[in-house]
Amino acid sequence: MLSLRNEGVLSMNEINDLRDKLLNNPDKGERLKAVEELTKMASKGNKEAVKIIYEMLKKEEDPEVWIKPFEVPPESENDERKHFVEDESNFYSLSIMPILRKKNISNVQKTIIIKFTKSFIELCKADDWEIVPGAMTILSYLTDEDDLFNFADMWLKKETTNINYILSPLKYHPQILQRIILALRNNPDEYKLRFIEIFDWFLRNPLPDTAEIIGKELWLNLPSRYKEAVRLYYYEKIGNIYEHLFYELKHYSREFGEISAIPLPTKHPYLEWLEGFEREAVTSSIVSYNEIKEKVALKLAKEIREIKKRMEKEGETIEGYQKMTELARKITEIYEEKERNYETLQMTAEKIGLHLKDAVIQIETDEPSPITRRRLERELQREEDRELIPIDKYLGEYFPDDQLVKLYMTEIRNSAKRLNVSVETLRRIVEFHESAHAIIHLGRDAEGKNFNTGAFKMVDGGIDPSPLHETLAQLLTYHCIKDIPELIECFEKLNKFQPSAYRNWKNFTHVPLERIRNILIEIRQGRIEASFDMFERILI
Ligand SMILES: [Zn+2]
Repeated sequence: MLSLRNEGVLSMNEINDLRDKLLNNPDKGERLKAVEELTKMASKGNKEAVKIIYEMLKKEEDPEVWIKPFEVPPESENDERKHFVEDESNFYSLSIMPILRKKNISNVQKTIIIKFTKSFIELCKADDWEIVPGAMTILSYLTDEDDLFNFADMWLKKETTNINYILSPLKYHPQILQRIILALRNNPDEYKLRFIEIFDWFLRNPLPDTAEIIGKELWLNLPSRYKEAVRLYYYEKIGNIYEHLFYELKHYSREFGEISAIPLPTKHPYLEWLEGFEREAVTSSIVSYNEIKEKVALKLAKEIREIKKRMEKEGETIEGYQKMTELARKITEIYEEKERNYETLQMTAEKIGLHLKDAVIQIETDEPSPITRRRLERELQREEDRELIPIDKYLGEYFPDDQLVKLYMTEIRNSAKRLNVSVETLRRIVEFHESAHAIIHLGRDAEGKNFNTGAFKMVDGGIDPSPLHETLAQLLTYHCIKDIPELIECFEKLNKFQPSAYRNWKNFTHVPLERIRNILIEIRQGRIEASFDMFERILI
């Protein structure tokens, strides 16, 4: 009789013999010999052998025996043991996942199975829908977080990899996905052309644990050339959608006649979403008042520690103690300061129907205002200019880049005397005016949008003071205080000393605030030219 015992080709009898030895023989040595033989056959492509091994895996309790099939590394994709790592939802797979869940696996065995599983991903260059997702699931069950991350990350950088096969099984491991996003942020260049695909995968598969950091961590920190590439990618995609729609419309209109206007998106929704983070970013990067407070206090505490150290080394001094007491008092002052209330800002925001979510910092300072400094520097000045009490840059100022309101208290005190009003009343007026600038900039409309900082600064072509900005700020101030006799009286008095840009508001007091609000919203959206001339033309 001819023996077919070469290269894994065995007669049916011989295979049945091996099955019997492996599954039913109480002798461990015999079982080991059988599993070695069958593993060799399976690795050469024998389908029957791999099924017998799978049956063994289900019932074999001796770890030395059941680990055997994993000890021989696969050499080609013809290796039938590939069915072991396939996804358990594939009908024909012989997935070992259900078996692994039931087994007690030692670390040594884990290492062997991990290596075996990784080999199959390598053999198909991470591009086989039957192998890769299942293998990744097995890896995420067996290996530790670092190893899983490094392995996934390595394949995401390769050209052949099917990104979806690698990432989809990791959906239940948000910490790995988060690490991948941060790696993209830190070294986008390493992913080369795969970058966009990976980025797109995260947008198409939004998970509660990754959506935020995709927007806030990755998108906002991305070098601009990557942002441009992402934008281009989605512009192209929306182009494809239009092409498809065009085809469909042609088809339908032939059947159902003309189809009238359908609302079409002009921007890909993903881009819209990403740009939302940019609008948010304008303000979220600003530190809150409490954070500033904490920072200052920490700095002072550090100074105290340093003085203490120095005195320990060089001996105690009276100056040292005095300095320490002074610093300690400053810290107490910072913390005991009354919780600042944002009443004025809040009131201004409510008046014009915008929401203020972001912290605007407001400080009162005794430093000379920019106009005072200029006046001191240039003694020669036109007398009438010296008479003016401009609200901005003299009594107060709004700094859009820092979202900061400054009140120049020395000038407020002096001017209050000149106007014969109380310091507090004048301070309140200035506070309202500067808050109005801040709200026009940062107040959010019903869609959560605020004025782009660059565009805010370019109103009226960027001239300073801008008649439109000052008209809006004065009008808003007027509406906030018109029912408070003391304040409106002070406001009228102050008005007489204002440069012309600050006096136009009087022509618009009859216009409902709702109308002003709508115009402001349209200016922010770029639908109305951001100039006083246009504002005037619309309303008068
Ligand atoms: Zn102003």
